[in-house]
Amino acid sequence: MGFNETLRDFRLLPLKSIGIEILQVNLGYRCNMACKHCHVQAGSAREEMMARGTVEQVIAVLKESRIKTLDLTGGAPELSPHFRYLIRTARELGCHVMVRSNLTILFEEGMEDLADFLRQAEVEIIASLPSYREDGVDRVRGKETFRKSIQALKILNRLGFGTHSTTLKLNLVYNPQGAFLPPAQSAIEEEYKRALGGNFGITFDRLYTFVNMPIGRFREFLIRTNAFEKYMERLTSAFNRETINGIMCRHLLNIGWDGRVYDCDFNQMMGLPVQRNYPQHIKDFEYELLQRREITFGDHCFGCSAGQGST
Ligand code: SF4
Repeated sequence: MGFNETLRDFRLLPLKSIGIEILQVNLGYRCNMACKHCHVQAGSAREEMMARGTVEQVIAVLKESRIKTLDLTGGAPELSPHFRYLIRTARELGCHVMVRSNLTILFEEGMEDLADFLRQAEVEIIASLPSYREDGVDRVRGKETFRKSIQALKILNRLGFGTHSTTLKLNLVYNPQGAFLPPAQSAIEEEYKRALGGNFGITFDRLYTFVNMPIGRFREFLIRTNAFEKYMERLTSAFNRETINGIMCRHLLNIGWDGRVYDCDFNQMMGLPVQRNYPQHIKDFEYELLQRREITFGDHCFGCSAGQGST
């Protein structure tokens, strides 16, 4: 049974968003890395990047709407030439800014003062670290990634991120290194805190667990290894109705690098924009319409509702 049929069975359709707490903006698909699980299929050769005019439209929405949190993603959002301008402006407007970082970006050319900039702007960092072991990280994200990630976390700690500061939050993201569901968030957070603290003296605020979505490079991997159907069965049978209130599309709106409007970053990658009766581009943004929009679902959504859900 598909995701829409499952929701119908539970009498949950039509399912609407319940506000827009977060404007999630994808600044482009370019990245200094090419991780195996990347749902964006990001990489150094990708040319899709948000233009300055679209960035101005994002700022106009922040000015005019009640949205108080900006969530920057990519690719590596730091590679956008408008990254710092957008953050500075959003902060001046009183917005909280979150940046999804791969950590290794701190060591790219031209990024020498990036960590300092993030500290001054009091940005919340959400950093991918799929394991606290070297082999677990390097297998999925490329050689040397673990070493660089540890180095980056130490730099961020020295600047005050992840040290129980109220303004400099550092959260990590765990996702499984294969076709299985993540363990309970609280248990693995404790494991991470013990391992990173004990081995490297690193501290952080929260660990979020994400399910690997059956899209992008991970989907290709599943198909290549004949594991796609089995993984989908695993996600389907782990459907948890209790997760539906918290799924992120009910609380955020996603903007693509070209200004198109989506229910979430996963739908963006699936080429599924918001339904046709809602504004399709950020230039036509209407808060009242979009905050109560009917959400578009597909079978990949089982990834958000499996087990304890993806936060
Ligand atoms: S993948 Fe589906 S359930 Fe998950 S946030 Fe996007 S639309 Fe919502």
